Amino acid sequence: MNQTIAFIGLGAMGWHMASHLPKLGHEVWVWNRTQSKADHHSISFQTQSVDIEKAVQADFIFSCLPTSADVEQLIAEHPPKSGSIWIDCTSGVPKSAQQLNQALKKIGVEYLDAPVSGQTIGAEKGTLTVMIGGDVAAFEKAKPIIAAFSGLIEYVGESGSGFAVKAINNTLMATHLWALAEGLTVLKSKGVDLSAALNCINHSSGKSSMSENIMGQRVLSRSFDKTFALDLLQKDIGIAVDLIQQESLQLPSMQLIQEQFTHFEKDEASKLDFSAAVQGLEKMNQIELR
Ligand code: NDP
Repeated sequence: MNQTIAFIGLGAMGWHMASHLPKLGHEVWVWNRTQSKADHHSISFQTQSVDIEKAVQADFIFSCLPTSADVEQLIAEHPPKSGSIWIDCTSGVPKSAQQLNQALKKIGVEYLDAPVSGQTIGAEKGTLTVMIGGDVAAFEKAKPIIAAFSGLIEYVGESGSGFAVKAINNTLMATHLWALAEGLTVLKSKGVDLSAALNCINHSSGKSSMSENIMGQRVLSRSFDKTFALDLLQKDIGIAVDLIQQESLQLPSMQLIQEQFTHFEKDEASKLDFSAAVQGLEKMNQIELR
């Protein structure tokens, strides 16, 4: 049966994610706050730029916006049609997912929290990891559509669980980046060649995706190319820390990491790649990682 799919939010991630959907053979509608991007998308791919009133009439509606608050506002102003499934790929807040899930159920809509990981390169290649919370039957219906842009789709539990996994994942990413930057700061102060040191680490037990990709490509190169804004990572760490506090857990490193990632104010952070967070450490020690 031919179904309609809408994608809302053609940012750094959404642009690429939506580009894979036409291959499924369904009609694909795209909407973006800045309409010119949606028009451009429809020229570049086999999608149709539509107004928001039409987008929320689709059978499957994807959103990929900066925050849960943005999604809540959009849904409040433009409720989706009964019988549809809303797949929210925003890295959002678990409590918001639970509330949206309950509210949308009342109008016959299923809501899945379905955040993604794999950066813009994974979105472009269609190999994202998608972690999903919500109703299992809705998940099974949405899975073949989500598969258009993903390499791994994992159902992780009830509503909000996907957002929780994503927040913890990104806090781990931040921890790995910061710990690696601290390690390289010691080595630089000892006069060690950082590229050679990184090569050793990448062939040893201390490696991570931060050491294998981000440290060399963005920090040591001093390019700090922006693909994932630092303010979005600050938001994700904040979500993780809120979860810790809600559960009254004692997890000191995660709280310490949050402090380290707030050296830049939100406005400045929104213009920077997340890798620029290590510049806070560089300033503290007057040591540049290059
Ligand atoms: P971008 O800032 O690149 O894009 C945000 C998109 O949301 C734009 O299309 C923007 O429209 C739209 N938007 C912003 N505010 C609103 C609003 N109030 N109402 C409607 N539309 C709005 O973000 P990303 O694509 O980088 O990130 C999107 C989500 O994905 C975030 O939650 C992020 O944490 C997560 N993520 C990002 C990754 C990355 O590597 N970038 C990796 C994995 C997850 P406009 O064009 O008009 O500005």
